[in-house]
Amino acid sequence: MKVRRGRRQQVGEGASAGESGVAVELRGVRRQYGRGAGAVHALAGVDLALPRGSFTAVMGPSGSGKSTFLQCAAGLDRPSAGSVRLGGTEITGMSENKLTELRRSRLGFVFQAFNLLPSLTVEQNVLLPLRLAGQRQDRRRAAAVLAQVGLADKARRRPGELSGGQQQRVAVARALVTSPDVIFADEPTGALDTGTAEEVLGLLRHAVDGLGATVVMVTHDPSAAAWADSVLFLADGSFADRLDHGSPAQIAARMTALTARSGGAMAGAAA
Ligand code: ADP
Ligand code: MG
Repeated sequence: MKVRRGRRQQVGEGASAGESGVAVELRGVRRQYGRGAGAVHALAGVDLALPRGSFTAVMGPSGSGKSTFLQCAAGLDRPSAGSVRLGGTEITGMSENKLTELRRSRLGFVFQAFNLLPSLTVEQNVLLPLRLAGQRQDRRRAAAVLAQVGLADKARRRPGELSGGQQQRVAVARALVTSPDVIFADEPTGALDTGTAEEVLGLLRHAVDGLGATVVMVTHDPSAAAWADSVLFLADGSFADRLDHGSPAQIAARMTALTARSGGAMAGAAA
């Protein structure tokens, strides 16, 4: 089940599918909270283009804007300025209904806290995105994605009967069920031990290498980030550094350098 960093693509090399070859594009994206002297510039001008079929990790000190970036890139939050394109579709200014429809049909989400519905079975949780998108609840499709994450025998269980790692694998299956173009993950391994974290990372890697998805993952863990093709480093609301094909040690060293630059008190926090 584990696919360890096979067939990695150079970011920029692009993938075959789609018109533009770019899965996620941000231009001049700003996100400001509050006004005047007390305003917080959570994103201070972000430009970015992620090719289809790439796996990108986003790292940065606490408060550097990682979650805001992910929310804006995934159409869950609206930038104060700038534009966001998903798979060539401009989502800036899109109506809330259209945006919701696009999110449900073309994006997948994995969060730190699993976010499964406890009263539903594993299979019902996996089928939820199809149900919300008004599509047929294809039980064979649910079985197929559950088999992909190694949980073919757990379809009738409730989330509470599964381990944390198994629950996160259900969340990955749920993210995969619509065959999304882009999977956004915010600290997907933050609540898992090393072994189960690796299983989940292997599944995200496989979504890219085997299924052609694009994955964008926020993490504070250099070992998790090393599963990505590239690591982008956020500091004070903009991307300050980037490392392709880095090892955990190289990534940790960049983080340490970054936190040392952007406020000495944070130095070493990521080591
Ligand atoms: P990270 O995920 O890297 O820890 P965030 O994106 O959560 O960073 O936050 C970036 C900055 O924006 C921080 O200074 C944070 O305090 C601020 N911020 C985030 N959300 C809000 C909000 N809803 N209201 C006001 N400030 C916010
Ligand atoms: Mg955050």
